[in-house]
Amino acid sequence: MNAPELEQTYGFEVFPKRELTIVRGEGAILWDDAGKSYIDCTAGVGVASIGHANPRLADAIAEQAKTLVTCPGIFYNDVRARLVEKLVSIAPDGMQHVFLCNSGAEANEAAIKFARHATGRTQFVSAMRGFHGRTLGALSATHKYRDQFEPLIPGFSFVPFNNLDKLAAAVSEETAAVILEPVQGEGGVRPGSADYFQAVQSLCRERGALLIMDEVQTGMGRTGAMFASSHFGIQPDLICLAKGIAGGVPMGAVVCGERIVAEIGIHGTTFGGNPLACAAALATIDYIEEHDLCAEARRKGDLLTEALRGINSSRIREVRGLGLMIGIELKEKVKPHILGLMEKGVLALPAGATVLRLLPPLVITDEQLEEAVAAIRESLSD
Ligand code: PLP
Repeated sequence: MNAPELEQTYGFEVFPKRELTIVRGEGAILWDDAGKSYIDCTAGVGVASIGHANPRLADAIAEQAKTLVTCPGIFYNDVRARLVEKLVSIAPDGMQHVFLCNSGAEANEAAIKFARHATGRTQFVSAMRGFHGRTLGALSATHKYRDQFEPLIPGFSFVPFNNLDKLAAAVSEETAAVILEPVQGEGGVRPGSADYFQAVQSLCRERGALLIMDEVQTGMGRTGAMFASSHFGIQPDLICLAKGIAGGVPMGAVVCGERIVAEIGIHGTTFGGNPLACAAALATIDYIEEHDLCAEARRKGDLLTEALRGINSSRIREVRGLGLMIGIELKEKVKPHILGLMEKGVLALPAGATVLRLLPPLVITDEQLEEAVAAIRESLSD
């Protein structure tokens, strides 16, 4: 049996699959099992920010694998120690501690528990179209994908995103935290405004609620700043990270401000903070800093946005985004275009039924971006 047959037979098919078997990558290029190359505008859904098969990351992983792969939280570890220090040093002002875990959903799970623990409150407010993960706690904060799994954790309510009045009406003295994405990713690549986030922060402080920014997709340079929260000049109480943090090695993190206290026993994880993932994260962050990938994400994001806005097509409703997190909202279904682009050698993502989402590696070259735009132009032109 070939790879699709084996996966269909023995795997668990919870994803809508494309007819494509990816076997290799380098930078922003992926190859299938027949040797055809693709410009990757998915980056493993925003994960491979520093590119596929990045030699610096590969060396760090190999070196750490030969030294120490696992070390539970009951012991101190040199690599983990360097990573938590590094994360606090690059985080917005006021951040003091880091909890390391293994995924975005796990980061949000931890943040929800920390917020309940710190405030003694059980109510949460999050946004319609928001996405925070598929585990039951993270799903409780998520507006979609929940119907088949009710009852979820009680106490979560949903308000329209980027609408202060609705949020103000929902946040009370019972609210433990407000959970928001800086740019809604799965919900259609919708950036919130600086005014909105600043007002949300003030409101939370006034009512004693915490502000959790879910930067699982936006974090680590993707939007043109290490943390998208910095664009808005806010200092959240908790920032959740995953995806791009360790270049593709599974890792999640919750970076916490002074109001979060986590004493022994309130949370834990076997794999979280393992030296292998920590070494990968340190190499990834170093690479982002040394190659100025935040500035590159801004520059290439501007380039890409301008080129896409220049496409003359009645199918396009809007091009929007932040840095290299870009959505093209169509007036029609996006799926045929995703499949058409794949034929043309460009891999892209949907975000809902009508938005084409581009999350290329931050190391994508200008030429590769131009090629991707040419294919998109061809696909979307009237
Ligand atoms: N939060 C956001 C904003 C996400 O985009 C995602 C994944 O797409 C998650 C959380 C869940 O992350 P994971 O799939 O690593 O559990």
